[in-house]
Amino acid sequence: MVIDVGPLLRGEVKKINIDYMLTAEPVSGVDFESDAHVTGVLTDNAGYMRLGLKAELKYHGECARCLAPVDGVFSLDLERTVAVEGVLSEEELEENGDEYVLIHGSVLDVDQTLCEELMLAFPTKLLCEEDCPGLCPKCGKPRREGSCDCSDKEIDPRLAILATLFDKDKDSD
Ligand SMILES: [Zn+2]
Ligand SMILES: [Zn+2]
Repeated sequence: MVIDVGPLLRGEVKKINIDYMLTAEPVSGVDFESDAHVTGVLTDNAGYMRLGLKAELKYHGECARCLAPVDGVFSLDLERTVAVEGVLSEEELEENGDEYVLIHGSVLDVDQTLCEELMLAFPTKLLCEEDCPGLCPKCGKPRREGSCDCSDKEIDPRLAILATLFDKDKDSD
């Protein structure tokens, strides 16, 4: 959203409330059920301007371990100092650029910053639960649903080698 900060710069208001919907960029394997709901406030304290935003994004995807559907709301907090373009030196911007958002003319556009932060912060792997035990590597049954027959036959890896040798002998018959 492009925010007209003119009234703030002129000292007519001390804060501007922000509430809008932001279309997030797609993430592979994840559906965003709606646009991100962005709320926050831009405040001016004797020329020191701060932006505080919260973005909430409903998503639908699948667990990276057990493939169960995962639904949730991802929430991101963003805090930035607001500066008018040209006021900060290039050195300051190079060193602390991540801490600022810039006003161009009398407008502030926060969409790009928000989109970038969302993409950086969004989990690369979704999990149904932090400790999801995943699937049995042999039969593919979700371990959460209880043990499968495979787990009873779990054998010492050294014995497993013997077992394959035995199988080979059988094949040669
Ligand atoms: Zn899972
Ligand atoms: Zn199994």
